[in-house]
Amino acid sequence: MTWPAWLPIRKDLAELSPYGAPQVRAEATLNTNENPFPPSLDLAKAIASAVEEASLSLNRYPDRDAKELRADLAGYINALSATTFGAESVWVANGSNEIIQSLFLAFGESALGFTPSYSMHPLIAKVSGTSWFDGKRNPDFSFNLDAALSQIKERRPRLTFLTTPNNPTGEAIPLSQIETLANVIGSFGGLLVVDEAYAEFSEEKSAVTLISKNPHLIVIRTMSKAFAFAGARVGYLLADPHVIDAMFLVRLPYHLSSLTQSAARVAISFKDELLAGVTKLVQSRNKVSEELIGLGLTVLPSSANFLLFTGFSQSAPQVWQKLLDHGVLIRDVGLSGFLRVTIGNGAENAQFIAVLSEILAAEEKR
Ligand SMILES: *Cc1c(COP(=O)(O)O)cnc(C)c1O
Repeated sequence: MTWPAWLPIRKDLAELSPYGAPQVRAEATLNTNENPFPPSLDLAKAIASAVEEASLSLNRYPDRDAKELRADLAGYINALSATTFGAESVWVANGSNEIIQSLFLAFGESALGFTPSYSMHPLIAKVSGTSWFDGKRNPDFSFNLDAALSQIKERRPRLTFLTTPNNPTGEAIPLSQIETLANVIGSFGGLLVVDEAYAEFSEEKSAVTLISKNPHLIVIRTMSKAFAFAGARVGYLLADPHVIDAMFLVRLPYHLSSLTQSAARVAISFKDELLAGVTKLVQSRNKVSEELIGLGLTVLPSSANFLLFTGFSQSAPQVWQKLLDHGVLIRDVGLSGFLRVTIGNGAENAQFIAVLSEILAAEEKR
């Protein structure tokens, strides 16, 4: 970014660029890990009537503490993970990005994450005045527990971020490793923030099951991916109630609209229908992965709703552009030689594979 001289932009922001996954129209939109299945008509109607009801009180501020929604989210997690959380262990906000921002506002100063991972962790850290350290992974991007532990012990950051399944690689980290990390981080008074945006797509047990044993662990979840609710903006965290008290301090008053709260409660009540969509996407992910391997490509093992692949001879931006020219939008995550594709519906996945196989066949002929 270049800024006019007269604009008193903060010095520490001047060299940053805003988040900007291209929002362009395509036949197959497979670039931001959205859920391809829109809400059913039944769900849409139930949301509409709940929103109508909430509209009749729009002259009033919403429940500042979103007590009912937080209780519903606790119930949802308890049913999935056999935990016993109440509303006092849950915080909810406008997307998990707001959750991440609140964590930096409350606990910031220094944070560490393991690159490549979710690009918003370092960006939100910097914007909220937290210094960020890029931790290292193995050369194949897999998580290296020993290397992570030595980087954590050296830096002793207030916050350590771990994304599992990781975006953009798809790798899930075993629960035993998370427990080890949380114990080491707890020993010097830091917090381990586990971003589980894709947890429902993974078979690994959730880190929420460790919170009662170790209050230094915070788990972030979202309704954007598995719940097909990205447009509504609802993210949440599970943690020790003292962490939630800190969230009360840094949140803006009435941050979550009454319309959002009521729509989210309805979506949670449709969880069985929504989780059936997750099962379908996991099957499709495995199929698309096999098809990519069948095209001679290398695919990183994924426990999420996307795949990171490599093995094409043109540059990633070239392949990305050719796919887009044929109506398929995927993501160039800035890793040389790699591209990330979100699992779409059956037609989108088929179109992606068909177009990609033509691009690769043309590669061979040259
Ligand atoms: C998509 C994603 C999120 C979701 O952000 P929302 O603000 O809840 O939509 C959070 N973390 C990771 C790692 C993601 O990939």
